[in-house]
Amino acid sequence: MIELAPGIHSLGHGKGGRVHAFLVDTGGELSLVDTLFENDAHLVLQAIHELGRTPADLKRIAITHGHRSHLGGLATLKRESGATVYAHRWEADIVSGDRRAQAVSILPQQSLKLIPFQLGLWLNRPKHVPCPVDELLDEGDRFGPFEVLHASGHSPGHLAFSWAERSFAIVGDAVATWPELCPGWHAFNLNKRQHHVSLQRLAALEATIVGVGHGDPITAGAQDALHELASKPVP
Ligand SMILES: [Zn+2]
Ligand SMILES: [Zn+2]
Repeated sequence: MIELAPGIHSLGHGKGGRVHAFLVDTGGELSLVDTLFENDAHLVLQAIHELGRTPADLKRIAITHGHRSHLGGLATLKRESGATVYAHRWEADIVSGDRRAQAVSILPQQSLKLIPFQLGLWLNRPKHVPCPVDELLDEGDRFGPFEVLHASGHSPGHLAFSWAERSFAIVGDAVATWPELCPGWHAFNLNKRQHHVSLQRLAALEATIVGVGHGDPITAGAQDALHELASKPVP
């Protein structure tokens, strides 16, 4: 766990393509965006403990989108905390296990390191533990201290989160910094044109701390990095 700014914590590990989740503490209330890869959620639960909080302090969990790496700990965290689970309506039935996420090409693109994840989506393996979504989120809604952006393209219901007062944004898989800085993993971006528009909107937030779905958060030069990504057509 890394504290990016007071009360803003980045949780990450090697699994799920260096997947990251973000835990924010606002006056003792915890809000979590994404749940890391592992089903037992032990890294998230450990982080809550290290903050001197209990699972009951976790009030809300948002899922950026219904890809496996982001859903791992959700069912466990729901059970342990009773937190309200949020997602966009297009992703909700994937999260609840009623529909599988759309497969992507298994041909090599961008990096060989991504092949296992392309194959995983294609085979729908490993499956996540299904968890019902309690509330839907869409453009302009509030989630804890965040304003919600419907940043589609990577997937139709992909969400991003902006905490403007803190110059902090969580952009999910719209941007990745692993295996390299890129406008999301190319093979996974289902609608390139929508994704390009979303990148431009995310760059316009001018956030100085940017949490991404895969790889370390961007904490230096974030504004320039996002404008650079948004200036080019999405591959
Ligand atoms: Zn994804
Ligand atoms: Zn992802």
